[in-house]
Amino acid sequence: MFVHAVTVEEGSLRLDQPVELKVDHARRRAIRANHSATHLLHEALRQVLGDHVAQKGSLVSPERLRFDISHPKPIEAQEMARVEDIANAVLLQNEPVVTKLMAVDDAIASGARALFGEKYGEEVRVVSMGLPAGEGAKAFSVELCGGTHAGRTGDIGAITIVSDSAVGAGVRRIEALTADAARRHRADEARTLAALAGILKAPASEAPDRLASLMEDRRRLEKELAEARKKLAMGGGDATGVDAPREVAGVRLMARVVEGVEMRDLKSLADEGKTRLGSGIVAIVGVAPDGKAGLVVGVTEDLTGRFDAVALVRAGSEALGGKGGGGRRDMAQAGGPNGANGQAALDAIQAAMAAA
Ligand SMILES: [Zn+2]
Repeated sequence: MFVHAVTVEEGSLRLDQPVELKVDHARRRAIRANHSATHLLHEALRQVLGDHVAQKGSLVSPERLRFDISHPKPIEAQEMARVEDIANAVLLQNEPVVTKLMAVDDAIASGARALFGEKYGEEVRVVSMGLPAGEGAKAFSVELCGGTHAGRTGDIGAITIVSDSAVGAGVRRIEALTADAARRHRADEARTLAALAGILKAPASEAPDRLASLMEDRRRLEKELAEARKKLAMGGGDATGVDAPREVAGVRLMARVVEGVEMRDLKSLADEGKTRLGSGIVAIVGVAPDGKAGLVVGVTEDLTGRFDAVALVRAGSEALGGKGGGGRRDMAQAGGPNGANGQAALDAIQAAMAAA
């Protein structure tokens, strides 16, 4: 019995009404190619990865094919290339795809691969593709299958694997394209690579190395830049300029507004300042490119009896439009939206020190 599910787009459907069915050949041809490619990839994966590879479900659509296999780890690029080579070699053989009905026991005896967990009837359909690869084999791929297939392996045109991902413990999901979709995918990738090589001003084959070395350069330069900014923020070691520490309430205060320093580096800047002072208080406002400010106050150990970094940082954060702030007596931080008031925040801290 053939059952069709239909969507009525206009008019109505009545009992006993004659209807005309038309097959969408382009769509069906694409499905056939993708389904037959699933069989070929299954066998190619088994040959490359080992006998443990078993199909755990599949999806065949006109656009692509997807199937899950049991395999414990990611498939390496070289393995993937071999799988593609093996499967595509069968396409070039251009042998007819042979389907035969036979008794289930005969089918299993002939080496047909049955899918674990599938229920099969008395009589089964056996689909064979490609020239036999091993001794005693009847064909490259022999599977029990009731689905629709390409007429000859050459009709599949090309097979390209586009992704391999994990979908569960020990199960990999493979997605692939065939025929014109495979060609278009390859052509798109070739154009992307050419564009990339053009930007890198290197031949495509050297593009990966060129890019890797640029990324390495970038990491090194970022590190150097962060170091240089920190040095600059601390006055380049010059302790006699306008930013030199001043005396407040009998202790030395190093107070700075710095720009271009990452907020996460403010604390290490304050630590450096404390080390440089030996004894004293460091207050640093860091202004981010978006105008927001971070504030860090450090108090050297010998002064934590008289001064509390948390109280000082709170005095400053108000000027920045922030609320509160926190930390310990020797190091505290706060933030606020008004980076333009950095100097006012430092003045507030200085006033709080004088009043302490
Ligand atoms: Zn099948």
